[in-house]
Amino acid sequence: MLPPIDQGHLQARAPGHVVSLDGGMIAIVIPSFPLPNGFTAAAADLMLRLAPGYPDVQPDMWWFAPAVRRTDGQPIAATESREVYLWPHLAALVAPPQPWPVAVRNRFARELPGAGPEGTRGRREGPRRMTTTLVLPGTLADEIATAAHNPLECAGVLLARRVDVGGEDRLLGRSLHWVPQAAYKEQSPHHMMIRSEGYVGALGAAEADGAIPIWFHTHPGEGGVPLPSKHDRQVDRDIADLFQLRSGSGVYATLIASPRGERFAFSGELTPEGGPTTLIDRVWIVGERWRLIQNFARQASAPDVIFDRNVRAFGSDIQAVLGDLRVAIVGSGGTGSAVAEQLVRLGVRHLLLIDNDTLSESNVTRVYGSTPDDISKAKVEVLRSHLTRIAPNLVGSTIQGMTTFKSIAKALRAVDLVFGCTDDNAGRLVLSRLSTFLLTPVIDVGILLSSDRNGALIGIDGRITTLTPGAGCLVCRNRVDMARAAAEMRTPEERKKLADEGYAPALRQVEPAVVAFTTAVAAAAVNELLDRLIGYGPAERPTETLLRLHEREISTNRAVPRDGHYCHPGTGKWGAGDEEPFLGQLWGAE
Ligand SMILES: [Zn+2]
Ligand SMILES: [Zn+2]
Repeated sequence: MLPPIDQGHLQARAPGHVVSLDGGMIAIVIPSFPLPNGFTAAAADLMLRLAPGYPDVQPDMWWFAPAVRRTDGQPIAATESREVYLWPHLAALVAPPQPWPVAVRNRFARELPGAGPEGTRGRREGPRRMTTTLVLPGTLADEIATAAHNPLECAGVLLARRVDVGGEDRLLGRSLHWVPQAAYKEQSPHHMMIRSEGYVGALGAAEADGAIPIWFHTHPGEGGVPLPSKHDRQVDRDIADLFQLRSGSGVYATLIASPRGERFAFSGELTPEGGPTTLIDRVWIVGERWRLIQNFARQASAPDVIFDRNVRAFGSDIQAVLGDLRVAIVGSGGTGSAVAEQLVRLGVRHLLLIDNDTLSESNVTRVYGSTPDDISKAKVEVLRSHLTRIAPNLVGSTIQGMTTFKSIAKALRAVDLVFGCTDDNAGRLVLSRLSTFLLTPVIDVGILLSSDRNGALIGIDGRITTLTPGAGCLVCRNRVDMARAAAEMRTPEERKKLADEGYAPALRQVEPAVVAFTTAVAAAAVNELLDRLIGYGPAERPTETLLRLHEREISTNRAVPRDGHYCHPGTGKWGAGDEEPFLGQLWGAE
């Protein structure tokens, strides 16, 4: 339930602690927690409660039993309330069973907005077949490209965590273990022989990391064909069992790369114990640039003539990438619908739309595809049917719900890329983590219109922030209002109560919004995607674009991960995948 780092600390410092789940919150009881001098007890049982969104969202509350006071009779700030709170699971754990007389610093919420079976309504259309994608951070892809350009064949074991999302199999690259030079018996441009000590160590590393081992080697030369030779097939037969067994994953996978320009072409396969063998269909490289490479064994088809003008601008390869990219758009309002409209006209054909709301009459001024007839329909459905009229072959899925629910956040594991087009802070925390844990780039969009005291419009500020491995996340950039994020996790009633008591900020009311500005910001977000795919921008790309439309000014900046934060490669969370708890945070009840 708890992130591993907290489990470790608790194990070391409070071995007698008990962890329990209640209503989506986690409660931790530490018996006989020692207190400093000056209190009415030397020790008391401490109960800590952690809210959904923890650790981004701060711990929620604490209780002491028996209640603790200062010996000098002075009050303890923010711990005035004393209440009896009987925690259903925990009451039985303390002997003898007793209610918890508590010192409370905060009110609590036990329900989450929109929780319940009505919270999620999914819909999926269009034909799907199992697709396996190997996702590589730019750093690993660079290592593979460098090896592919070596005139001699070389080999290594690539470790990847596997995430199976019903029809979309994702392999998240973790590390590359090169065969040491001493383990090559023979090495030439067309051949190599390797002693088993060259790779068995990597199989142990795969087991320790919960990863599958991918046997990687190169077929050198610019015209090299990255398809398995007869000799490669023999090697597969010789080592598959060992790889499946020693890695503890039951899977043997292969990857062959040949140089193509600065990058590489590849083929690859995945063989679970007992088979059958399937193709690794695509490699998705996410770094400074984003590149989608299809398995060499699959033939590319010529782009549809309707894309002629696009192809004249950026070529048929990029057009094919757009057609194959799986994109999620979170938020189907002014910005999200404008992003969707542009993506589909550009040629994107796999879209997942997520939004919790129904269309209101004041949305029609901004939401692409909406008409007065659509009022009170789900926004995602209004948008999907509009997009399907533009592109009848669109594979469009919709979810009416919020990404702050685990089941909905998990649906995002199946996509290559996410546009964040909502104005909530709690959802941003989830997308920020997703970009690291699933190696899924996120383009997060924000817009703020400001007025002076007389209500006159004076500021039109747009923000487009790109989260990709190597860039600082939204938390490192201070782009999330943590107090608002915590408040958004609560029910409307609890939120109001908290705001009235001054514990939490009131959520922003209905914000002003104008179609010209939401569309301008959406276009800048799509420009960000196109540059990452096509590469017309500077070599060191900015990771944020700020539009000050009122001043007709654009500025950019670049931020890197903070030391020790989850987005930093040193913390080992890049491509962590499905490791529990999902995204390393707490989730509310659904
Ligand atoms: Zn080979
Ligand atoms: Zn960060």
